[in-house]
Amino acid sequence: MDIKNRSLPEYKLELVPTSEEARIVQGFKWADENIGKRSKIGGEPGFIQNDDWPICSCCGKKMLFYAQLDSVGDKLCIADCGLIYVFMCFDCFETKSFVQSY
Ligand SMILES: [Zn+2]
Repeated sequence: MDIKNRSLPEYKLELVPTSEEARIVQGFKWADENIGKRSKIGGEPGFIQNDDWPICSCCGKKMLFYAQLDSVGDKLCIADCGLIYVFMCFDCFETKSFVQSY
């Protein structure tokens, strides 16, 4: 499959706590229902702020959206219920990531 010039197929990532501590940390008291459930590989990035699409510093091409990783809970929150966005160049194997938050 040639994925270099289009988006990846989308896979939803679900959190499965593997310890009691992880189970306790997971979840939000007041956030919207979808917060904590936005992690995925592929598809289109769900930007919270401006469309901030990175360019590969090696070849200068637009990078491919690889994944977004959500906050886990009130005690493990990325800024204000933010997301980490991960982009990759499949030619150079360069990655870039950044955070957007409310
Ligand atoms: Zn590149």
